Amino acid sequence: MSSDQRNDRGSRQGGQGGGRRFVRARKSCKFCAEKIDYIDYKDARMLSSFVPERGKIQPRRISGTCSTHQRMLAAAIKRGRNAAILPFATD
Ligand SMILES: [Zn+2]
Repeated sequence: MSSDQRNDRGSRQGGQGGGRRFVRARKSCKFCAEKIDYIDYKDARMLSSFVPERGKIQPRRISGTCSTHQRMLAAAIKRGRNAAILPFATD
């Protein structure tokens, strides 16, 4: 008799250690970086970089803008719209 012991214990080691870390965009708020505390709604070129085509404001997850500046940005964009500088959301 051959004592053929099969070791079928799953010995999977060193595979993919689980858990993708959610990579947070480092605080890359453009306005903080430039120490801007007022966002000029007349700066259409700058604002439009935060307003993709549909006229929606880019979420800060994507833009990396901090909440303070995101608010300012939103306000500036609204003003810009009222001043016909920026397009309204076209939904
Ligand atoms: Zn900021």
